[in-house]
Amino acid sequence: MLNHKAKYSEIIKAEAKRLGFLSCGISKAEFLETEAPRLEAWLNKNMNGEMQYMENHFDKRLDPTLLVEGSKSVISLLLNYYPSETQTDTSYKLSKYAYGNDYHHVIKHKLKSLLYFIQDEIGEVGGRAFVDSAPVLDKAWAAKSGLGWIGKHSNLLTQQIGSFYFIAELIIDLELEYDHATTDHCGTCTKCIDACPTEAITEPYVVDGSKCISYFTIELKENLPSEFKGKFDDWMFGCDVCQDVCPWNKFSKPHNEPLFNPHPQLLDMTKKDWEEITEDTFKKVFQKSAVKRTKFAGLERNIEFLKP
Ligand code: SF4
Ligand code: SF4
Repeated sequence: MLNHKAKYSEIIKAEAKRLGFLSCGISKAEFLETEAPRLEAWLNKNMNGEMQYMENHFDKRLDPTLLVEGSKSVISLLLNYYPSETQTDTSYKLSKYAYGNDYHHVIKHKLKSLLYFIQDEIGEVGGRAFVDSAPVLDKAWAAKSGLGWIGKHSNLLTQQIGSFYFIAELIIDLELEYDHATTDHCGTCTKCIDACPTEAITEPYVVDGSKCISYFTIELKENLPSEFKGKFDDWMFGCDVCQDVCPWNKFSKPHNEPLFNPHPQLLDMTKKDWEEITEDTFKKVFQKSAVKRTKFAGLERNIEFLKP
C-alpha cells in the first residue's frame, strides 16, 4: 500500500499531466549544495554580463526554504513549446519559444490550477509558483528531480523529447516522495559547442551568458558590440542553434497548446518584411508575445545589426 507521501506525489503528477505538462518531478526543498560553487564561479567570471539580477538574492537562489517560508518540496514541471511549423530558413529568426503567447502567463495559469488542485485534494497547503523567475535555478531543480540532464549547452534535455520546453516550479510546504537525478547522455558529442555562432559555450556545460546571442538580443540594453557583427547567424530574438543541432532534439514532438501557436503572419515574414516592420505590425504580431520584452526599438536595433 502506498504511504501518504507517495499517494500525494502520484495524484499531483497525474494532475500535472492532465493540465498538459510533459512531465513532473519532485525534490526536497533544500540548499543546492552542488550548484553553489558553480554559480559562484560563473558570477565571478562575469558570465552574467549585464544580467545584474543573477547576482541578487544569491542565498535565496540556492535555498528555496529562504525563498518560500516553510517550504518542503520543489515540484518541477516541463511544458513543451516545440512548434509544428517554423520560420523559413531565409528569414531573420526568432527563438521558437517566442512564437506564441507569452509563456509566463500561460504557465502561471496552469501552476495556479495545480496548486488549487493540491489544496482541494490534500488540504491546507501553501506555496508559490515560479516561471523562468530569477530566484529559482529551474534547470538544476528539474535535473535533480529526474526530468532530464543538463547538457553541454547548459539546457535541460531528455532522451525522449530533447530540450524544447519551458521549466516551471511550484514550491510548497508539503512533504512528498522525492525523485532522483538521471544520467548524462551527452557522451563524446560536442555538436552544440562546435555550432555556437559566438563561441559562447566556453567549455562543456559552461555558457558565457555575456557572449550568448540570446543575451545580446534580449537582455542587453546598450548597442550591440561591433566585434560580433556578422556572427549572429540571422537571429533577431534569442537563438536556438545549440538546441537545433542537438541529436536528442530529433525526438521533439509538436506541442498541443493553442496559445503557443504563432500569429498567422509571423512564419511567412521575409527579411524584407522584418526590415520594414512598423510599430503597428509589431504590436499586432506580438500582441501577447514575450518578444514585447525587447520593445519595438529593441527588435529594430537587432534587425539593423543583422543587415549586411
Ligand atoms: S543560444 Fe546560441 S549563442 Fe547562446 S550558447 Fe546557444 S548557440 Fe551559442
Ligand atoms: S549537442 Fe551533444 S553535447 Fe550538446 S547537449 Fe546535445 S548531446 Fe549534449
